[in-house]
Amino acid sequence: MRYTRHAPIPGWDQELLRAAHVVICGVGALGTEVARLLAQAGVGALTLCDADTVEESNLSRGALFDPADIGAPKVAAAARTLATICPETLVNERRNWLVCGIGLAELRDASLVVSCLDTRAARIQLAERCTLVGVALLDGGTRPWGGEVRYYPAGGPCYGCGLTDSVRATRDDPLSCARPDPEGVRGASAAVSALVASWMSATALRVLFGQPVFAGVLRLDTAYADTHRMRHPRDPRCPLHERIPPELVEPAPLSSDATVAELLDWLLPGEAALGWTEFSNPGGPAGLFGVWLSDAPGPSRLRDLGVAPREIIRIINRREGQRDRFIELAGPPEGGCLCP
Ligand SMILES: [Zn+2]
Repeated sequence: MRYTRHAPIPGWDQELLRAAHVVICGVGALGTEVARLLAQAGVGALTLCDADTVEESNLSRGALFDPADIGAPKVAAAARTLATICPETLVNERRNWLVCGIGLAELRDASLVVSCLDTRAARIQLAERCTLVGVALLDGGTRPWGGEVRYYPAGGPCYGCGLTDSVRATRDDPLSCARPDPEGVRGASAAVSALVASWMSATALRVLFGQPVFAGVLRLDTAYADTHRMRHPRDPRCPLHERIPPELVEPAPLSSDATVAELLDWLLPGEAALGWTEFSNPGGPAGLFGVWLSDAPGPSRLRDLGVAPREIIRIINRREGQRDRFIELAGPPEGGCLCP
């Protein structure tokens, strides 16, 4: 009965939605609205990832927040409201930066990955991670009186292809995802976030149903009552197109709760494990960052070094002529994070 009005919609498949798992990175104005709309549509599982807590200024736009949520993690507040209005939807909460909260295998296996992030650096990071595992990305952003909806199918131009080299390089800054966007705080309202989020959600549903959608950038502008479609070509200099060869990924009976010492037991002579983000070394001087998981203290848990649940870890072989390989961590427990 709940979904009776969906049945007449051409192409709608309620059972397909019930089996779908959508990952939403960023649970602010866009993310809460997209999560609400997809849950109300009947999507069976949502994974919400955001490191922030609810502030009073979020109440004017966060579709799932109320004043009692101030100070609570955004993912927890959103999950609590979703449990009330859409109890059939399973919500996984990841209070973390996206690289530490959502492993590559989870991105790979999701029905769809949706970016509701609010910095360019974070979008670039997510675009790169989607490319690593060969999945599409649906992204959105707002402007004062409009916004953009961007859909990048796997294998084509990515979010980074439309940026300059210097902007793309922000992904290499370990603090970038924790800093405000260099363009500063922009004006925004619930009316505009709901508009962009609604378009994103309708696009997400069509993608899930396997129906055609526009691949590229759609600009929405309420000031001029205008929409504009753009496509940018694949930029041969864009460095975000590395793909992990699926045949080189081996499942390991370890989760991100395992220790570095347990991970090292899996390595062969000459091999070292490389993290995807820099971490502060719990055993080292304050402020020391590293990317070689193999160099971290043996008792350190991978999740405390910023390794996400179901992460795929690159194993570098330092011996001449030997190939690198990848190991895939088993499913949650929840990840923690000491990254910036
Ligand atoms: Zn690209």
